[in-house]
Amino acid sequence: MATDMYNPSDEHLMIREMVRNFVEEHVEPQALEYDRDEKFNLELFRSLGELGLLGLTADEQHGGAGMDATAAVIVHEELSASDPGFALAYLAHSMLFVNNLSVNGSEEQKARFLPEVCNGEKIGCMAMSEPDVGTDVLGLSSTAVRNDAGDWVLNGRKMWITNGCIDEDGTPADIVWVYAKTGVDERGRTQISTFLVEAGFPGYSVGQKIMDKTGMRASNTAELVFDDCIVPAANMVGEQGSALSHMMRNLELERLTLAAMAVGISRRSLQAMNRYADERQAFGKVIRDFGQIQRHIGESWAEYRAMRAYLYDTARRMTLGESGHRLDSDGIKLFATTAAKNIADRAMQVMGGYGYVGEYVVERLWRDAKLLEIGGGTIESHQKNITKDLAKDPDAILR
Ligand SMILES: Cc1cc2nc3c(=O)[nH]c(=O)nc-3n(C[C@H](O)[C@H](O)[C@H](O)COP(=O)(O)OP(=O)(O)OC[C@H]3O[C@@H](n4cnc5c(N)ncnc54)[C@H](O)[C@@H]3O)c2cc1C
Repeated sequence: MATDMYNPSDEHLMIREMVRNFVEEHVEPQALEYDRDEKFNLELFRSLGELGLLGLTADEQHGGAGMDATAAVIVHEELSASDPGFALAYLAHSMLFVNNLSVNGSEEQKARFLPEVCNGEKIGCMAMSEPDVGTDVLGLSSTAVRNDAGDWVLNGRKMWITNGCIDEDGTPADIVWVYAKTGVDERGRTQISTFLVEAGFPGYSVGQKIMDKTGMRASNTAELVFDDCIVPAANMVGEQGSALSHMMRNLELERLTLAAMAVGISRRSLQAMNRYADERQAFGKVIRDFGQIQRHIGESWAEYRAMRAYLYDTARRMTLGESGHRLDSDGIKLFATTAAKNIADRAMQVMGGYGYVGEYVVERLWRDAKLLEIGGGTIESHQKNITKDLAKDPDAILR
């Protein structure tokens, strides 16, 4: 029998079915309310730990499920077909924090932190962006300097941090993966290092929970403040100056899973418009019979199928913890995110006035889809990276 590229093993199929059932029973019923109220469903989130999803790609020895990039894509696709905001909080915790630590942390750090983030007792996030710097990451201005006791003193602000606060009272994330400047290297280039900052460290606080977002409102986004924050030497990840390799390895998985969210959004939007096209009548016909509606459905189908195949093909080729997949992690995110936004837009158009209100879901997907063109790298940065990578390796086009 030919391999099913979307569920290449029984384990993958099982995880898809498990998440799909969980979504139907627990995620879908709360999605409208949490989006409307701009609230993060912490309790529901913690229950993902019981299913083994919060440590999906972490080693089993530390409480993870030891699964691969394809499994990560499956989970993000399934969650986002219902609640992309909730899925984004999942991505920030399980991909940006847990996977990063699992790949780049020391054995001691993994033993100390992974069990509690894998079971959902603690919530993690990753802080790269700053008020003045996003794409131009080497321009970040947060600094860490060693004090006489050998600890690091961290100063700076981080902006747009998903899971940066975990409730409505501004309670900070339990643990943050922070990038900060620790000097310049021998060639005069900015040296960036990675730190694990824990709730309760003096000088670590939430500046603000960012409100009135267009979409992804069911995930918390916060500004974090580090004001002479003391970080023990044991909480530096890897060597001083090794953060760029941490970033590069994890960004590829981040982009892949953001693209998987786009696939989930597209799938749900397509289902909604396809169903509605049979239900609605105008001028004595079902609207499916109108050529312009056929164009919306036909183009959405073709784009959805193309993005899904490209996504799962890229996931299949990806080895977690190894960089070298940027051409396709950027390629799939570039294609899928804009296509998802367009497919959600077509679903709204096909559904007329009903498409424009919350109860019919697609307006939320349309708002959520826009973030995917910005977060984890803007579409312009993907265009830049792809062009650069193809200059280095023109034969990629032939492979
Ligand atoms: C809801 C949400 C959640 C987020 N979660 C996180 C998180 O958990 N952790 C985190 O660290 N960050 C997070 N971010 C930040 C996100 O990654 C950044 O917003 C993104 O990287 C873009 O950075 P910026 O907003 O500073 O825009 P800028 O980098 O300032 O870009 C502004 C514009 O200039 C363009 N531009 C910049 N440089 C170039 C160039 N060289 N060539 C062409 N065009 C260029 C950009 O494409 C964009 O159009 C989140 C953002 C949002 C909105």
